[in-house]
Amino acid sequence: MVGTRCSDRRSGNWEHTLSLATGYPFTYRDLRLTGYSLAGISTSIGFPEADVLFDVAQGLPYQTPFNTILLTHAHMDHASGLPYLISQKSMQSRPKPLVIMPKEAIDPLKRIMSIWHEIDQFEYAFEFKAVAQGENIPLKGDFFARSFPTFHRVPSQGYTIFKTKRRLRPEFSGRTPHELGALRKAGEILEETLEENLISYTGDTRIEFLESDQARKSKLLFMEVTYWDSKKSVENAREWGHIHFDELLPRLDKIEAEKIVLIHASARHTTKAIRDIIEDRVPEHLKPKLVLFPRPV
Ligand SMILES: [Zn+2]
Ligand SMILES: [Zn+2]
Repeated sequence: MVGTRCSDRRSGNWEHTLSLATGYPFTYRDLRLTGYSLAGISTSIGFPEADVLFDVAQGLPYQTPFNTILLTHAHMDHASGLPYLISQKSMQSRPKPLVIMPKEAIDPLKRIMSIWHEIDQFEYAFEFKAVAQGENIPLKGDFFARSFPTFHRVPSQGYTIFKTKRRLRPEFSGRTPHELGALRKAGEILEETLEENLISYTGDTRIEFLESDQARKSKLLFMEVTYWDSKKSVENAREWGHIHFDELLPRLDKIEAEKIVLIHASARHTTKAIRDIIEDRVPEHLKPKLVLFPRPV
């Protein structure tokens, strides 16, 4: 197994080995994710409980069990693994994957697949689909996803994972089972459905994605911060459709997420350098909100 040792003494739970079979594990309360993210190289994060994978990087073994793939955009560090993943699924006799993506990406990626069909002399099974904003994408169990707008150099969108929950309507709380039974018999609707906003994932974007309520209000927000210091300016980050840390800092207060998980940092910044920037520049009360997704440098 190919592995890179990566540890962080402060958080304590980072002590692990990157495995191409598992990615880097990331856990917050009962939410378990796994993946890899380094700007321009590879970004792909999965949420096994909902059987969903955000982006596919260049194709890695840990991705093969996922049946729904939410592609943010078709840049190579996020999407070039599609032929690999689709062929791996076929070789392992797994069901064909459903890949949701911006509508502009469908035709070019189908053309790439048809070239791989020609090379492999085999017709792979897959479904590429676009969704309208606000449209629900059904996932495993009680989970579903919806897209939100992002702002990159090519057509792009982020995604939010929701969980549907049924609960007794508040006006009936405190009633005995006998009373509730009588009310039900009388035709009252006792329960209501809630949508719990669990995880948003941006892919690559400028800071303007924060205008989306849906993204700001997730329990966990996986957002890109590609550039962290003066090696690249804010203008430069914006020109390339990315976020600079200087833009995030004054907006941290406005983000309602319990944790902001920072992904897609450029490999030009070491993990230690990023941690030092957070330590030096983020106000003390906001520090616990920020988490750097595990990375190998
Ligand atoms: Zn990228
Ligand atoms: Zn990109």
